Amino acid sequence: MVKVPELFGSMVFDDATMKERLPKETYKALKKTIKEGAPLDINVANIVANAMKDWAIEKGATHYTHWFQPMTGITAEKHDSFINPTDDGKVIMEFSGKELIKGEPDASSFPSGGIRATFEARGYTAWDPTSYAFVKNETLCIPTAFCSYTGEALDKKTPLLRSMERISDEAIRILRVLGDNETARVVTTVGPEQEYFLIDEELYNKRKDLIYTGRTLFGAKAPKGQEMEDHYFGSIKPRVIAYMQDLDEELWKLGIYSKTRHNEVAPAQHEMAPIFTTTNLATDHNQLTMEVMKRVAHKHGLVCLLHEKPFAGVNGSGKHNNWSLSTNTGRNLLKPGKDPIRNTEFLIFLAAIMKGVYEYQDLLRVSVASAGNDHRLGANEAPPAIISMFIGDDLEAVVNAIIEGKSVVNNEAGNMDLGVGVLPDFKKDTTDRNRTSPFAFTGNKFEFRSLGSSLNIACPNIMLNTIVAEELSQFADKLEPVEDKQSAVKALIRETFKEYKDIVFNGDNYSDEWVAEAERRGLLNLRSMPVAMPYFVAEKNVKLFTKHNVHTRREMFSRYEIQQEEYGKVINIEALTMIEMARRDIFPAVSAYVQKLVEACNAKKALSASIPCDAELAVIEKLSKLLCCFYNKIEVLEEKVNAAKGIKDVAERALFYGEEVFNAMNELRAVGDEMEVSTAAGYWPYPSYGELLYGVR
Ligand code: ADP
Ligand code: MG
Repeated sequence: MVKVPELFGSMVFDDATMKERLPKETYKALKKTIKEGAPLDINVANIVANAMKDWAIEKGATHYTHWFQPMTGITAEKHDSFINPTDDGKVIMEFSGKELIKGEPDASSFPSGGIRATFEARGYTAWDPTSYAFVKNETLCIPTAFCSYTGEALDKKTPLLRSMERISDEAIRILRVLGDNETARVVTTVGPEQEYFLIDEELYNKRKDLIYTGRTLFGAKAPKGQEMEDHYFGSIKPRVIAYMQDLDEELWKLGIYSKTRHNEVAPAQHEMAPIFTTTNLATDHNQLTMEVMKRVAHKHGLVCLLHEKPFAGVNGSGKHNNWSLSTNTGRNLLKPGKDPIRNTEFLIFLAAIMKGVYEYQDLLRVSVASAGNDHRLGANEAPPAIISMFIGDDLEAVVNAIIEGKSVVNNEAGNMDLGVGVLPDFKKDTTDRNRTSPFAFTGNKFEFRSLGSSLNIACPNIMLNTIVAEELSQFADKLEPVEDKQSAVKALIRETFKEYKDIVFNGDNYSDEWVAEAERRGLLNLRSMPVAMPYFVAEKNVKLFTKHNVHTRREMFSRYEIQQEEYGKVINIEALTMIEMARRDIFPAVSAYVQKLVEACNAKKALSASIPCDAELAVIEKLSKLLCCFYNKIEVLEEKVNAAKGIKDVAERALFYGEEVFNAMNELRAVGDEMEVSTAAGYWPYPSYGELLYGVR
């Protein structure tokens, strides 16, 4: 029997552990650093480092690492042991304040998009004391930010921390305008729901496509997909529940608030949702969660797939980024309360978000763009590539009433005064009906639903925080100098709703009508990553990020380049994998089967001329034709891949991969899948979709 409260955070150097292990003065100094960002004295750091090391050794650690999030989207670590030689030929275990605070990994092999030329390989990692250190794999992990020596961010954490500071400062300005003189800080909170697939490891090992690319590149549909809708929330199979239990325990040890587990829509698909926390921690925790998910799966003879679209024909995996704003006293600023029309605080933040989402649709789209996620957006399983915002009918009625200058709301029951208690308290059930919207208000938070399952959530949250900070700052600039603040705030809310309401859409985002309607409204529809990415470096966006010191111009262009480059690489690997599978496995397998059929015909004829061979001949003819076609498509794909390599311009190359190479891949796959259904199972070189999707019991 696990005792969860004791297990929880047992591998984390958390506040309780610090309090217990550090001298009072040291603890106080460290807390000051954590709370206010005050620089940490080296003497204090030495004491903290030593206590951390002693604690980590008790937890089985022999090494430490600065744990960081380079722009590859994964987390990076380089382990150093605690050993230090002594005169008598032995070692002692040591860890200094200097080693805790700063690390110097060889940065040259991490993508930097030209910020740091490889001859100037030095970058450094700096301890982020706002995220607790923890022990995993016998290693003390210290969450850090990763920067170049010129101070430019080489990671995802640094801009995230900057954006959190910005939105806090601007939100405080607004709260002051509204007469709140108490709140000292505003934090953004995030709860990321994580989807994943679980498949059998033995089957996985037989599929080159899964091994090299994380998704299947060939595979005919199984007779059964997700059409029966019997998997979502269905009872969980024994092997899966054993995995989930183990996963929860491992996550709890790391202080991750894993809360909800259930089956998802597609067969073999599942979800884990944690309780929300501050964005910085939620990001670190989500990165850890993805890693632990994979590790625990291996222990159970399973593989956890985090790719956005591992299987064609059934839903892929996403991540829902639930996002809100909270004061340091714990007040949720996005809680409408019982009387939203008179809840000025809620309305002004809603207005800022509405304006932000409208003006920076492109950035929100860019923040979820990737080769993997392109398979999902707009494919009727995830929100479309068009960014809009869902606020629900009740809240829309409030917004409309404000626009029309009324204090009553028109709803189904006719005109109703918006007195206390008339409208339902905005519970989930009145706002959570729409599952198709990219950005949905769900009672007291917004749920950004367009994220892909493997994405580092730092990116969308950097965007959200920065765009809302910008709108709040514009509001504050307007409101601060005004005498009659109450009227000015009201007018501003009304004007903003009026001007930006076009971003609100409560209908079915999967419908063709919406695509047409969105076009009429002038909303962007950026269908793929290479089409969306150039918007990131549009002048208005460079202005936004540099104004708020979240990114420098150089950082932005480097990120732009890295992402475009990475996109091309992903598709290139997929294409090469397909070519190898096609030439070396599928072609020979089908050819061998055809030969077997020919032999069967010949044997029959030798026996007696009257035995019919029509069936074999039909299959021989069909597969032979398909093989010719298959061969031609391999050649075409190869040509396209070679052509792509020759394109110098990174944006042009990404576009070519996304269109020409990608189309050639789809065409090759179609022929391969058609051959699969006509080829004897024993000849087919890979486990089928049926085996992969229904193999775990
Ligand atoms: P679903 O959207 O699947 O119905 P839930 O309503 O259970 O799921 O919540 C989804 C996520 O939203 C959870 O991770 C939860 O902790 C998170 N969440 C709830 N309140 C907030 C908030 N104020 N800020 C950020 N996330 C929140
Ligand atoms: Mg959700």
